[in-house]
Order: sequence, then structure tokens, then C-alpha cells
Amino acid sequence: MLRVSRLSAAYGAVQAVREVDLAVDQGSLVALIGSNGAGKTTTLHSIAGLHRPSGGTVTVGGRDITGWNCHKVVRAGVALVAEGRRIAPPLTVEENLDLAAYSGRSDKARLRARRDEVFELFPRLAERRQQLAALMSGGEQQMLAFGRALMTGPDVLLLDEPSMGLAPSVVDVMFETIARLHSSGATILLVEQNAELALAVSDHVYVMQRGQIVASGAPDEVRDRTEVMSALFG
Ligand code: ATP
Repeated sequence: MLRVSRLSAAYGAVQAVREVDLAVDQGSLVALIGSNGAGKTTTLHSIAGLHRPSGGTVTVGGRDITGWNCHKVVRAGVALVAEGRRIAPPLTVEENLDLAAYSGRSDKARLRARRDEVFELFPRLAERRQQLAALMSGGEQQMLAFGRALMTGPDVLLLDEPSMGLAPSVVDVMFETIARLHSSGATILLVEQNAELALAVSDHVYVMQRGQIVASGAPDEVRDRTEVMSALFG
């Protein structure tokens, strides 16, 4: 479904991503793990159209979307849940969800159905549908950011550090939700610094270090390899 080939990305002279290859098959949950600064976020941003890659290609369902801007990438069926909860604080939960849908491929009838799906996935959001996003907890805001991405009706969901800054109980809810989405057939690329969490839910894992993929395989294969440990913990 999503194929990344020899993707490179830089910030000026800083080469953040070097010739990265990734494959995310339809219905699979693939994790990209690695320590701070390994290049995980830059990889996701290069796929999502938030950073222009300096080389390589990105295809979705066989369609080349390399270098497309983020609005076009969303319409091509790729939605990013960015690190740091991109929501509109002055709007209510419901308004945040409806607004997100307009950047996607929804008509009005689908919008309602999608919103119901999001509320079913995150009952907490349903309870707070009229609440201003600004007044919600960090965990609820992260759920809302997640819900906004789902409102675009994505074929591929990109998740950037969904556990970041959340209380352990909220992290559990988040990962249960990711597992439920996966079992309902969603295609997911998950970036996560917490390797244990990522290994527990994924079908396939890529390990990144200094801009490159240094190991990949099934979670059980990857878990005990020394190069993986050194990539994660130095
Ligand atoms: P983290 O989990 O800390 O976000 P990461 O694996 O996602 O780490 P990136 O954020 O992709 O890593 O960063 C990769 C490299 O690019 C790092 O060396 C980082 O310092 C550098 N970098 C990231 N953003 C910028 C930027 N806006 N300008 C310059 N360098 C940057």
C-alpha cells in the first residue's frame, strides 16, 4: 500500500534521512523505532508532505506522491497524526472533527458516519463532543488529533509518537485503540520511541539509527538483536 524507496531528506547541511526503504502492506501495522534524532519524524514528514525529500520516492497504492504538498497527500489517502496534537483549541470536539473532514475526501453523508466511528473508537470524545478542545486534558487532545486524521478517511495512517507526554493509563488506551484499528483492517505506520510498546502491537518493525534503517523484521526477530539494542540505547 505504502512504499518508500531510497528516501533521503535534509535540513540544510544536516542529512536527517538517508536512502530509507519501507514497505507497509495493506492492513499491516508497521513500526519505525529508534532513538532520539534518528530521523523517524523526518521520514514521516517527508511521506506526509510536510518536508520535501531530497531524493527517493513515495508511492501509495502504486501512485507516486513524492514531494506532493500535505493537502494533496491527504486527498491521496494518507493522514498523519503529528507529534504534539494538532487541533484547533478554540473549537469544540465536534467542530474539530468536522473541519478535519473537509481536507479529506468526505461528502456530508460520510462525514456523519466517520464521526460516529471516531466516537465509537474514542467514547471519551463522544462524551465531550460540545467541549472546547482547549479545555481538554493532554490525553483527550491526543485522541482528538487522532480522530481528526481518521475523519479524512485515510487508506494509510501515519502515527508520530502517540505515547508522547501521556500518562501511562492514557498510553494504554491509545495503544488499545491502535490495536483495534489494526484488527479492523487499517493500514498503519507507527513511529514510536517506546520500543516495547511498538513491538507489542506491530507486524513488522524497522529500526532506524542516524538516518538509516539498520535492522528490520518481525518483532520477535528484532527484539534481541544486538545492533537493535545499540540503535535504541547507544
Ligand atoms: P525524535 O523522536 O526526537 O523526534 P526522530 O527520530 O524523529 O527523533 P528527527 O526529528 O527526524 O528524529 O531528526 C533527525 C535529525 O534531523 C536530527 O539530527 C535532528 O537534530 C535534525 N533535525 C530535525 N528537525 C530539524 C530542523 N527543523 N532543522 C534542522 N535539523 C533538524
